[in-house]
Amino acid sequence: MFETFGLTQIGSNADYSIDDLKKQLSGRLQGVQMMELPPFNQVAEAYDPTRDQYHSTRLLVLLEELAQSANVTNLLGVTSLDLYVPGMNYVFGEARCPGRVAVISTCRLNPTPQTQHALLEERIVKEAVHETGHMLGLRHCSDEACVMHFSEHLADTDKKHDDFCSECRSSLRWLEVE
Ligand SMILES: [Zn+2]
Ligand SMILES: [Zn+2]
Repeated sequence: MFETFGLTQIGSNADYSIDDLKKQLSGRLQGVQMMELPPFNQVAEAYDPTRDQYHSTRLLVLLEELAQSANVTNLLGVTSLDLYVPGMNYVFGEARCPGRVAVISTCRLNPTPQTQHALLEERIVKEAVHETGHMLGLRHCSDEACVMHFSEHLADTDKKHDDFCSECRSSLRWLEVE
């Protein structure tokens, strides 16, 4: 179980407040101490100029160093930077599975002025809970309604719930996730 769960904004362009996400996650990770770390901007080495995107796995390495120095057991980075892994055009996020760190990006969650705030929030929370599930060791779930279902497109994200299916939840029963 997480002891201290850190949250940090990566880069300056926030589409969403870390404080709001902290509140949303606190309600789901009962008894876990959530702390907001200062914004983290030393991410130049994860940038790929040929793609104009950030390599999410390289970001995870940087976040692991930050988690170590900030002395948190787990760390979720939230960014509006565009993330990718080789072989995919983009990713909504990535996590060590199981592991200490994860990152999510709002870039592909359609954070336009036309997107309703409630919808954007719903998508961000789903991606955050999904990557948190990976940190706890959960793999992708075949249930389309489960938060651990893989989202390739935004439609997949919108189809799933922001919670674990009963099977995933029973894998997590040692953790108090509400
Ligand atoms: Zn996943
Ligand atoms: Zn599931």
